[in-house]
Amino acid sequence: MDLTILMPFYNEDKQIDITVSTLLPILEQLDIEADMLLVDDGSSDRTWDAIAKASAAYPNQVRGLKLSRNFGKEAAICAGLDVVDSHAVILMDGDLQHPPKHIPEMVQLWRSGYDVVEGIKSDRGNESALSRINAGIFYGLFRKVAGYDLSNASDFKLLDRAVIEKWRSLKEYQTFFRGLSAWLGFKRCTFSFEVADRQTGQSRWRLSALVRLSVNAITAFSSVPLHIITLIGALFFLGSFLLIIQTLFNYFSGNANDGFTTVILVVLVVGACIMVSLGLLGIYVGKIFEEVKGRPRYIISDDTNIAITRGRDLLNTTTKKEDQ
Ligand code: UDP
Ligand code: MG
Repeated sequence: MDLTILMPFYNEDKQIDITVSTLLPILEQLDIEADMLLVDDGSSDRTWDAIAKASAAYPNQVRGLKLSRNFGKEAAICAGLDVVDSHAVILMDGDLQHPPKHIPEMVQLWRSGYDVVEGIKSDRGNESALSRINAGIFYGLFRKVAGYDLSNASDFKLLDRAVIEKWRSLKEYQTFFRGLSAWLGFKRCTFSFEVADRQTGQSRWRLSALVRLSVNAITAFSSVPLHIITLIGALFFLGSFLLIIQTLFNYFSGNANDGFTTVILVVLVVGACIMVSLGLLGIYVGKIFEEVKGRPRYIISDDTNIAITRGRDLLNTTTKKEDQ
């Protein structure tokens, strides 16, 4: 295969048919061999059945991968990138919010020699004000601490095989795809696209998952938060000199009872700072803990039109052979 379109799906049973039928004619028009890899991120609805049906209907164009549970979009992307063996992969959202009409343009740019072709959002579509503010805070922080400006970056990307092979060699358990693909470098170019509206269902992100992803992304790319702890410590050290002088002065001048308010304030502020600092340290220690365990990023439980076979399937094929 020359090109694979990789799409993660979570509880999108109604979307699969729409996505597949939209993409088929576009892929056909390309003058290279192209197929789709649909990853079911442990959906609880009939998404996998829909993928299996589409795979059976178009065995050469549609392949499917099922994760054993909901591991999250990042893990679904990892799983897809690990099994593809095409010359290039286009990564896009299964809900068609990344307009597939840009695919020919991306292929063109790849052919002209770029290894990474990135989609840049020209506007954020119908996103709510709250989610815009959240995104603004997150990307602002990310730029400050990690040094990459990803504010309009998206997961709509074409990656050359060379980039995918390097990506596979990154052993991180907790990934932030957008950041890591910027970190990888290579010859890159961008194109801009307008985020389309969702045709079925609604955004699958919950606030808690987004907060987790944000904390994950920032701590994976930067140890600046740890240095901030040191900075706060240094400031308190300087401040404490002033208080020591004042306290000693009061003591020797016989006014030692004064300053109770100061004591309360200092205890509160110092206590809060220590707690926040411990929390920050905890986040990093937690990350080390997760990485040290060395668990896989995802578990594949089923597939269609890919040669990852299960015991039961093997048993079926051997019995079939014996029958013959
Ligand atoms: N998705 C996924 N696993 C998840 C959440 C989302 O595979 O845990 C998929 C989802 O099915 C969709 C894509 O990731 O194809 C983008 O998700 P969504 O549209 O919910 O996010 P948004 O467009 O709001 O950023
Ligand atoms: Mg979406």
